[in-house]
Amino acid sequence: MKNITILGATGSIGLSTLNVVSLHPDKYQIFALSANTNWQKMLELCHAHKPHFAIMVDVAAAEQLQNALNSETIVLSGEAALSELAAHEQTDYLMAAIVGAAGMASTLAAAQAGKRIMLANKESLVLAGDILMDAVRHSGAELIPVDSEHSAIFQCLQGGTKGLSKIQLTASGGPFLGVPLTKLATVTPDEACAHPNWVMGRKISVDSATMMNKGLEVIEAHFLFGLSHENIDVVVHPQSIIHSFAYFDDGSVLSQLGLPDMRTAISYALSHPERHNSGVGMLDLTQKKSLEFYPPDLDAFSCLRLAYDALKAGKSAAGTLSAANEIAVDAFLNNKIGFLEISSILEKTLEAVSVVSLDTLDDVMENDQLSRQVARSIIEATCA
Ligand code: NAD
Ligand code: MG
Repeated sequence: MKNITILGATGSIGLSTLNVVSLHPDKYQIFALSANTNWQKMLELCHAHKPHFAIMVDVAAAEQLQNALNSETIVLSGEAALSELAAHEQTDYLMAAIVGAAGMASTLAAAQAGKRIMLANKESLVLAGDILMDAVRHSGAELIPVDSEHSAIFQCLQGGTKGLSKIQLTASGGPFLGVPLTKLATVTPDEACAHPNWVMGRKISVDSATMMNKGLEVIEAHFLFGLSHENIDVVVHPQSIIHSFAYFDDGSVLSQLGLPDMRTAISYALSHPERHNSGVGMLDLTQKKSLEFYPPDLDAFSCLRLAYDALKAGKSAAGTLSAANEIAVDAFLNNKIGFLEISSILEKTLEAVSVVSLDTLDDVMENDQLSRQVARSIIEATCA
């Protein structure tokens, strides 16, 4: 029996994880769950899954949860509790499903404690890739990707990496594929969040619409698989059936296919190296009219280009990009800036913040805070 801790339990990935875990009561039990502010949803989850611990990062939400709960679940609050339970001796597997930099410290704590980390929070790797990968190597932790593209590559590489020439991440292109730039200036947050294939949280949905998500994934792949930017390609594949490709020197190309449902990647992260039921239906390719592939348009989707630039620059550049992106996406979701301004704010932030070495978590946090401040002041200047 494995004890599962899910950080970000009330989100899209968190709920899908609970869904898969519930299919296997003989294999897994829920040890701890966390959420930011949504104590009503957490109350439901506590009744259904009876965790030992429930963390509400927000103190007032923790009090509300505590007052409403009549079970034995222990309620904790504050950010420090996330890292404590990620590294808790009774946590076997951590699902890292918090959105953004807020998930980084707990992912690192689990890595230092040698846990199996099922990594959805790609921002952890983008911000602190070298530090996180060092901690994993040092402690013998297992880092299993949950991002569907990286899960695909991870599965394709189970036979080893000998002769691996490059990988190619598939991208759906998001809701605005083929929409002319002139029309993008006025799109609303709800239009940007209406993804054609996947139902996801709002931040990653906007990232998919700008293709920043694919940019973050290129950087994530660099750290996970130890590949240079030259060996990581992106191809637009609007149907989201093929989840990525691994190309080998002998001309072989391996890929992993499946319906666009995150429970497949979540299930694999839980069961690796075995497989078990995820609740996802079987793919029937005879029911798919066509599978299309296009090169990405780096002029229309400049966020993807900026991510490659940041990866080439190395050191703190990827962290700066991700921090500025969180601020810009939040401003867009709150109707403070237009959709097309997201990429220009990222570009200006990258120009303004110096690229420095990140040797410790403190360095990472300092660069993150500075980049956020710079991005905020650029937004204020834009709005003024
Ligand atoms: P979501 O917005 O649906 O859920 C986010 C979760 O994080 C919630 O439980 C929320 O309470 C918690 N949270 C938010 N802010 C927090 C904070 N400051 N401190 C602590 N907890 C906080 O997001 P999601 O779509 O589930 O995505 C989660 C992560 O998984 C992201 O990093 C995303 O890039 C990655 N991911 C998601 C998908 C997907 O299909 N949804 C696919 C691949 C990767
Ligand atoms: Mg993905």
